Amino acid sequence: MKHQSKNSSHIPNGLYEGKIVHISELSEEHTGRRCGCYCPVCGTRMLAKSINGKYTAHFAHEHNISECSLAAETGIHLKAKEIISENLSLLLPTLVVGASVTIGELEYSDSCYVVKQKRNFLFEEARIEEWRGSYRPDLVVMKGGRELLVEIKVTHEVDDEKRAKIKKDRISSLEINLSKIDRMSTPKDIQSAVEVIDNLSWVFHSKTGEAHEELKKNMLANANFYLEEQRQERDDRNKRNREAKAAREIERKKEKAL
Ligand SMILES: [Zn+2]
Repeated sequence: MKHQSKNSSHIPNGLYEGKIVHISELSEEHTGRRCGCYCPVCGTRMLAKSINGKYTAHFAHEHNISECSLAAETGIHLKAKEIISENLSLLLPTLVVGASVTIGELEYSDSCYVVKQKRNFLFEEARIEEWRGSYRPDLVVMKGGRELLVEIKVTHEVDDEKRAKIKKDRISSLEINLSKIDRMSTPKDIQSAVEVIDNLSWVFHSKTGEAHEELKKNMLANANFYLEEQRQERDDRNKRNREAKAAREIERKKEKAL
């Protein structure tokens, strides 16, 4: 693949007038300073290098900046946000809950109760990095007055503190894991990765609590039904045994009387 690069000073994306530009989108006349791009992290001017050249085309800081190590990852993060807010659609993964109930000495568990199947979600609006109380999700997407938070993992996953805040607010939140994609990924590669269901997971879903309770209720009802059936069978068996015994007793008495 032409865009793959192991060289950590190779940066695939630059910022041009607030938008992410991938090096593959530039032509030769944009070489060097003429690209007009800046680093998405430190804001330093960048040079477009090796466009149609011998080596992998890439951006590099005009002046070597050793401490700006996450420029590639930040570019992917910004581009993913841009893509999702422009597409106004997202794939939502299947929502699964689990529960266990104990009756007497028996424990029943179900870890894969499907609450909602995976589906494509079309929304009306996306807001980038808007504060929600004390935390700031990467994206908030909205439909009919309802909100879904979207977190994009490139280097950092949703930490425990943020996870706890999201749960407390009870707003559905989705994590898109892009940590495994190549650091030189093109916009097309990023778009494809956003559509891979295995890269998507629920941080929290507002229906989880309700679905969990419903599952538990059904499991308890099923377990009680099963236990009741067993008890009934046992009673029937005992009754049949008692009746057979009584019949034998009568037969014996009859034989004695003869
Ligand atoms: Zn930089």
